[in-house]
Amino acid sequence: MSATQSQNEAYYATAQQLMPGGVNSPVRAFGSVGGSPRFIVEADGPYVTDADGRRYVDLVCSWGPALLGHRHPAIQEAVHAAVDRGLSFGASTPDESRLAQLVAQRVGGVDRLRMVSTGTEATMTAVRLARGYTGRDLVVKFAGCYHGHLDGLLAAAGSGVATMSLPGSAGVTAATAAETLVLPYNDRAAIEAAFAEHGQNIAAIITESAPANMGVVTPEPGFNRFLKETAHAHGALLILDEVLTGFRVSDAGYWGLSGRQEGWTPDLYTFGKVIGAGLPTAALGGRAAVMDYLAPTGPVYQAGTLSGNPVAMAAGIAQLENATADVYAHIDARSAELQRALADALDAAGVDYSIQTAGNLFSVAFGTREHGVRDYAQAQAQESFRYGPFFHSMLESGVYLPPSVFEAWFLSAAHDDAAMERIFAALPAAARAAAS
Ligand code: PLP
Repeated sequence: MSATQSQNEAYYATAQQLMPGGVNSPVRAFGSVGGSPRFIVEADGPYVTDADGRRYVDLVCSWGPALLGHRHPAIQEAVHAAVDRGLSFGASTPDESRLAQLVAQRVGGVDRLRMVSTGTEATMTAVRLARGYTGRDLVVKFAGCYHGHLDGLLAAAGSGVATMSLPGSAGVTAATAAETLVLPYNDRAAIEAAFAEHGQNIAAIITESAPANMGVVTPEPGFNRFLKETAHAHGALLILDEVLTGFRVSDAGYWGLSGRQEGWTPDLYTFGKVIGAGLPTAALGGRAAVMDYLAPTGPVYQAGTLSGNPVAMAAGIAQLENATADVYAHIDARSAELQRALADALDAAGVDYSIQTAGNLFSVAFGTREHGVRDYAQAQAQESFRYGPFFHSMLESGVYLPPSVFEAWFLSAAHDDAAMERIFAALPAAARAAAS
């Protein structure tokens, strides 16, 4: 390490030798905002601490899982106790049913659940299950929605694919890509036209319950219900991807803010992030008739050495048991305060923007005041160059934002007055940086 090199930079130099881009997940590389990524060595409550000992207010929250904040005592205790009983047994455990129960009690239409290890595995299995159940090949997805890195759903995907301005991914065969119909989000006419042409071959529509990987986009009122009705009118299924929104925007995810009031449920859900509290677990769940098509009761194969891992189950149970109404009220209130402060700062700096919301999730989109963002084309057309300076100004002031304009900002139950004050104090300079 040179005299002027920080510990972060030294770690990054080493990591770049050892891992593609120095990272194990692309957006962590700061590619779209520039600069060196921070290497995080510790986290506590609403804060993360980097290798140079700088503490930041964390608005990434592990990309969602840290709903209660970092190192919540109940989760720490449950995990330590589980570790002391053994890491993995490769056999069923009582806690798998306990976590399934907690999910089913909160979210409508979850008769059965299958635990997997990542959100990608959950959506991959949900798509295979929908194909196996319907005997059809095609899947409809929306441009800008991200469902993990399974081959068939990388076309026009959000998250890191959007951040890197990729149309999809190399390595996906043309035959696989041809089995996905990519449609514009919030566009009912496009969906009706796709079903009019291909309805008999469509196995499922998969959609983020509320998109948050092209920045946040608000589903137009009744949009998800319309998707279910259209799918069912043609013998197809609806898969609601709640990997990001599940147990974050309400006790029952975005379905809790929409389907619950409207009185409908999808055929399948996918969950992740919050249900593992930071350990690798995810799940798919839904109607018994569909879920029982999974092995061993049905012909659709799926398995996992670490599925339902006991330490991850303990973490998830502790998280959901502590995700009370007060937690959601707190995060909702903090989100509203932060959006107000952000708007005030950007207005004062004369920046053109809109703030997109889905429950307590939100993101900022620059240069979109006139029309907001209703689909991926509008998300991509924004003045994304303003985000890098904004991001770095916040970072300098001790606030760790997602290093991409196409990601949501995450709050937690641990974001207290002191943490919020620090964010508010950082905003005016960042807004001025965005303006220039
Ligand atoms: N679905 C959605 C909506 C997501 O946001 C993500 C990840 O960000 C995934 C699926 C994939 O989850 P994982 O990264 O755990 O594979």
